[in-house]
Amino acid sequence: MSNLSIHYPRRSAAKAAIALTPWPAPIPPQWQRMAQQKGFTVTDRVGDRYHVLLRCRDCGGLTMAKAYTLRTAQPKCAACGDRALRDTAAAARLTFLRRDAEDRHYAVYRAPCGHEVRRQLELVQRIAAGKVQVRCETCFQAEVAAEAIAQGWQLLGPDPDGHDGYRLYRHGCGHEQRVARVNMRTGRFACAGCDAGWAAEPNRIYLMRLDLEGVGVVVKLGHSRLPLSRMRYQLGLDPERRQELIHEVRMPSGHEALRVERGMHARLLREIPDLVVPREALEAARINVTREIYRAEAEPRLRSLLDDLEDAIGTGS
Ligand SMILES: [Zn+2]
Ligand SMILES: [Zn+2]
Ligand SMILES: [Zn+2]
Repeated sequence: MSNLSIHYPRRSAAKAAIALTPWPAPIPPQWQRMAQQKGFTVTDRVGDRYHVLLRCRDCGGLTMAKAYTLRTAQPKCAACGDRALRDTAAAARLTFLRRDAEDRHYAVYRAPCGHEVRRQLELVQRIAAGKVQVRCETCFQAEVAAEAIAQGWQLLGPDPDGHDGYRLYRHGCGHEQRVARVNMRTGRFACAGCDAGWAAEPNRIYLMRLDLEGVGVVVKLGHSRLPLSRMRYQLGLDPERRQELIHEVRMPSGHEALRVERGMHARLLREIPDLVVPREALEAARINVTREIYRAEAEPRLRSLLDDLEDAIGTGS
């Protein structure tokens, strides 16, 4: 009996032992005839009275099969099957290593980076056909972790909310936060824990007078570190139409500015709800905010609120 590598429909130690144990009995001529008709030669009986070794006419590979299978069905050459897997793997830039011991729809491959990857056979076919691209999970994780480190964060794991594009990270300050991976790459986000971007820095509450097409003259109350820049570059206004920054009050921090501004809007909503420009009107106009804008008639009330604020904190401009 040949000691060449023998293929089994599924690899297991028990089957390997059967395949290597000769069964001392002649090969019935009718088995040999059936094997010939089906593209094989019976080379040995092995293990017990039920098993034979078949040599594939196409590739010469040895496959163990049950005599019953030989009689009633077309045995499959496992070596040819593995060769097909090898070829498909190569086309997918993978090296076929072995079939998955548990699931026949999976196999284990070596990726170009050197890591072992477990892949569904059907997926490898699609990769080979150029229909999908699949990264090595180990390398991908390392890349995501390295991006975080470059921004001063540590990758903790997948998004607790289950979004593919997000991960959970921990900042150097200890704060944990879910962040879109694309934002982590570019650094275009702030840590809510330290929020050094704006919360602790000086800020301004402002009043702007704007002329919006289809709406008319309105006043906008808001806060910003740089109100003029906000008006000119961030609101998406039509530069041909009137826009004036009419009042600013310096605030010690962004946090404080936000708190005070929210209080003012809540108060205005109670006092002059009719002068709040509705969201639909703003959506139709050329401005990229949809709230906290008031009709021109509200300007005196807004000015008086800002005057009171200046008096209270003792700094105006
Ligand atoms: Zn074969
Ligand atoms: Zn890898
Ligand atoms: Zn932080």
